[in-house]
Amino acid sequence: MRSFSEARELISHQVPVLASEPISFKEALNRVLASDIVAEHDIPPFDNSSMDGYAVRTSDTVNAHSGSGGVCLEVAGEVGAGAVSSLVMGKGTAIRIMTGAPLPPGADAVIEQEQVVVRNGSIEIADLVPEGNNVRRRGEDLRVGETVMTKGTFLRPAHLGILASLGKMEVPVFRRPKVGILTTGNELIDVDEPLVPGKIRNSNAYSLFGSVLESGGEPVGLGMARDEEGELERAIRKGLECDVLITSGGVSVGKYDLVLQTMKKIGVEILFWKVNIKPGKPLAFGLYGKPGAAVPVPVFALPGNPVSTMVTFLQFVRPALFRMTGREDDGVLRLHATIEHDIRKHDQKRHFSRGVARSEHGRLVVRTTGTQSSGVLSSMARANCLITLREEQMDIKAGELVEIEFLS
Ligand code: AMP
Ligand code: MG
Repeated sequence: MRSFSEARELISHQVPVLASEPISFKEALNRVLASDIVAEHDIPPFDNSSMDGYAVRTSDTVNAHSGSGGVCLEVAGEVGAGAVSSLVMGKGTAIRIMTGAPLPPGADAVIEQEQVVVRNGSIEIADLVPEGNNVRRRGEDLRVGETVMTKGTFLRPAHLGILASLGKMEVPVFRRPKVGILTTGNELIDVDEPLVPGKIRNSNAYSLFGSVLESGGEPVGLGMARDEEGELERAIRKGLECDVLITSGGVSVGKYDLVLQTMKKIGVEILFWKVNIKPGKPLAFGLYGKPGAAVPVPVFALPGNPVSTMVTFLQFVRPALFRMTGREDDGVLRLHATIEHDIRKHDQKRHFSRGVARSEHGRLVVRTTGTQSSGVLSSMARANCLITLREEQMDIKAGELVEIEFLS
């Protein structure tokens, strides 16, 4: 049996990083950049006004003091966003300017329109307008030549906006792995079948479908296989055509747990079976060297209990998919929270409990979602985090700090 960290490390050393592909930046949301992005021009590309008001020369306003009288400047023209002023500002003049319009040559500050009095084509200014007032400088956001995003960046909406500002129509991103999902078990029926005695509906196929999508993979449904070698072999062979294969069920020590022996027969090298965790202990991981392929297919045989399936996915498959898609971050927000009740723990396993964390009087508190049986999927649906208890931690008392990982 492997420790949690051994198993994670082994997986991260074995899974391959996929090749990159160019795509339109418009389709790049939630993808991972495969090269650095460098700015080819400044942003903003010119000095401009951050307010609707009047462009002025600071030197014309030095004699204005509140209380002792202002200065009067003649409004010589106007410039709106998208236009360029052809006027060069002379001494004693101002130009009406809108937000985003380029600063007219000669001007070095902008005064908000709310702070002036307009009279007979002139404005009266009560106070000195400091240089650079309400001016957004060329390059203050991004400078030409600057590395704006690095390889491995997970692209969110703000990144799409920046790519658009820079005119980067096409960006290289890592390929999304095709992830085969095979559920196994004689008891399974599909969602559209009526419940009959002894059968349950296949929920893992769908929680895994969502989990794969959320982790940047392309789920490929392989349906259900009965606990029978011939059927398992056909389905697993089909699954090995994908970049990654996930199976659920059939990896314990039951009479009909045939998944691992079938995988071995096909030529999957099982690198470990069983990890020192709860739930999810019977997890197995292997590699399949596809004839003619440059990289092996990682194979995850997850236990079938619905919570075990989801927890082992989060702890082992998701980091692998992140690595395959080149993601540099692990996407997990880990914090400490005060546990609101005792938790019993008598073994040396790493535990993952389903929790609900919330802020109370400015401090983070957490409680479990009730029964922690690995078959109770509703307690996973109610949770917003996993409470992680390390191997050496024993009974936890209410009021202690525990580590939590938010689920999204
Ligand atoms: P196994 O890992 O095959 O021994 O299954 C453990 C438990 O999980 C059993 O109670 C199964 O009925 C249940 N189970 C296995 N596969 C699924 C599935 N796809 N959807 C819902 N429950 C499942
Ligand atoms: Mg089974």
